[in-house]
Formats: sequence, C-alpha cells, structure tokens
Amino acid sequence: MLRTIDAVPRPAVGDEDEGTPVSVKIRERLLAARKRFNANDNIAEFIEPGELEGLLDEVEGKMKDVLESLVIDLDNDHNTGNTARRVAKMYVNEVFKGRYVAPPSLTEFPNAEHLNELMIVGPITVRSACSHHFCPIIGRVWIGVMPNEHSNLIGLSKYVRLSEWIMSRPQIQEEAVTQLADLLQDKVDPDGLAIVMEADHFCMHWRGVKDMDAKMINSVMRGSFLKDSSLRREFLALVDNKRG
Ligand SMILES: [Zn+2]
Repeated sequence: MLRTIDAVPRPAVGDEDEGTPVSVKIRERLLAARKRFNANDNIAEFIEPGELEGLLDEVEGKMKDVLESLVIDLDNDHNTGNTARRVAKMYVNEVFKGRYVAPPSLTEFPNAEHLNELMIVGPITVRSACSHHFCPIIGRVWIGVMPNEHSNLIGLSKYVRLSEWIMSRPQIQEEAVTQLADLLQDKVDPDGLAIVMEADHFCMHWRGVKDMDAKMINSVMRGSFLKDSSLRREFLALVDNKRG
C-alpha cells in the first residue's frame, strides 16, 4: 500500500524514515549524487535491495488514483479491479525495467584472431515506449561493428541483451540509438560502430495523426563508418537488403 509522509518530527536515526515513500528516498540519493534521472536514465545503483518491491506498491497506489480520476468504478468493474497492480508491475518489472536493473553481465573475449571484417548483427527486435505518451515503440535494430585487434568480442545474444536494457525505458528513438552506441563503444571498443533503427511509434498509430504506415528510421555512425564512405555504403546496403 502507498504510505504517506509522517508529519510528526522524529530524530534522524536508524529506520526513522519508515514513512517516507521509496521514490522520495531514491530521488534524494540521486540529487545528493547530482545524477540525472530522466525517463531514459538507468538509476539501479541508487536503489537498495528490497526497494523495488516498495516502488511497485507506490506506483500501484498512484495508478489507482489515476483510474479513480478517470471515473472508473474499481469496486464494481471486475475488469479493472486489479489493473493498477498490473500496470505497476508492467512498468517497473517489464517495459521500464531498463531503468531499475543493473546492466546485463557480459563476458568479453579478446580478439585473438585479430578479426577486422565488418560484422553485422540484426535484425534485433526492440520494444520500447515513447517518453512523450508512454505508447509502445516496436522496431528492429541492426548493429555494424568494425573490430580492431584491441576490440573485445561479445556473444551475439549479448547484443540483444544490451539493446533490451537500453530500450526498456521510456525513450526517444534518437536518444535510444545514441545510448546504445555509447554502451557498445564502451564494451566492444571497435574501430567503427554503426546502428540503424526502424520502428513503429504507436503514438502515431493509436492517436494523433493515426497514420498506420509511418515508421521512423534513424542511424548512428561512429569511427570508421564515419570516415570511410564505402564501408558505410556496404553496411547500409546489407541492412537494406535484409529490411526487404
Ligand atoms: Zn509519443
């Protein structure tokens, strides 16, 4: 259940902050550390063990208030009785999980064979939500890597895990691909990195212009993909071919 702030002054010792909502405690830690906590930021290191469960309870309470304000009869409508809980779980444990959990652990292998050929991973199906409307974004990502002898190689499934971790936050497609590029640059350290993302934005299908065909495509090119136009063309041609 949602707990409210205790108005009675108390000494600041031990567990005396019992009544403070979990989100307030987490926010205080973020502010003290001067860390950004935008919708697409990961805040896992500021959440203590057990607090995620409390956060879920808190979101459930607030979600219930939203449903009440939408004048939905939660007491008698058998369809929505448990909706607040379901939505809270969906946000915290599923679709926005990438904000609250630590990055997936990776095994990085040295590039023993000194591979220096273009490698493309994709299409990786990605599921996200737009920060503006919290509507789904469902799409595909292609990742091009140009390794050098000092690069780390990671397993194919790890590209999927890392993408999932970045995408399962309220996102803006342009920022999502940049975040993914930064993460891969850091983990793999290649000579060049290219990412193309193509996605359906349900805030355009379900509401607004209601255009069913509109897709958004964007790309990030780094290192050798920026400098070498034939490498960039080769990557884009291969992706285009697979996009069909
Ligand atoms: Zn939107």
